[in-house]
Amino acid sequence: MSGADADRRLGRRALLVGGAAAAVGTAVLARDELSRLWWRLPDVEKARVAGAVDFRGARWVAASAANYRRADRPADYPADRVVVHVTQGGYASAVRAFRDPAHGAAAHYIVREDGRITQLIRELDVAFHAGNREYNERSVGIEHEGFVTDASSFTDAMYASSARLTAAICGRYGIPVDRRHVIGHVEVPGTDHTDPGPHWDWERYIRLVRRARA
Ligand SMILES: [Zn+2]
Repeated sequence: MSGADADRRLGRRALLVGGAAAAVGTAVLARDELSRLWWRLPDVEKARVAGAVDFRGARWVAASAANYRRADRPADYPADRVVVHVTQGGYASAVRAFRDPAHGAAAHYIVREDGRITQLIRELDVAFHAGNREYNERSVGIEHEGFVTDASSFTDAMYASSARLTAAICGRYGIPVDRRHVIGHVEVPGTDHTDPGPHWDWERYIRLVRRARA
């Protein structure tokens, strides 16, 4: 972390602690709200247990540290978006790329065609997946095995488990389940990527995410 980054983070942390103290002082936070906003409480250390995942059932494979930036989200950056990607290749080659320090990019998760989920980067950290610094800082990136041009890449199992993952992420950070907050890589400003492409069924996906949230 650079000195400037450290200064900014300290300032941000002080603000958040002040805000939380004021809110608790006036007792406006209900108990369940407090548990949802646990990260705003002072001195809460977030564990980084080796192999631990943020989504139950996901398998952990660490990305190269060159493909993300260590952070303390959502304390330092609010998480308010999920970005949907397609790998343009198979699962194994995507994992290989994300573990390669020369690749320069990686997502938090990959969902396979069979629905199994691998986590490569903690949600605490900023993954380099969107090609846009601000969007990287504020989002969780989910890759899907397959090809933009191949509709058969997107299996029922993939939609179902990816929707459960996105629902959990939206629940964790209070992200609304709609197309302003659950977006495709193609919708990130400045990108030249087209994923997830025309075969990705957004209507179905959002419906499944909403159902999994309920
Ligand atoms: Zn992408």
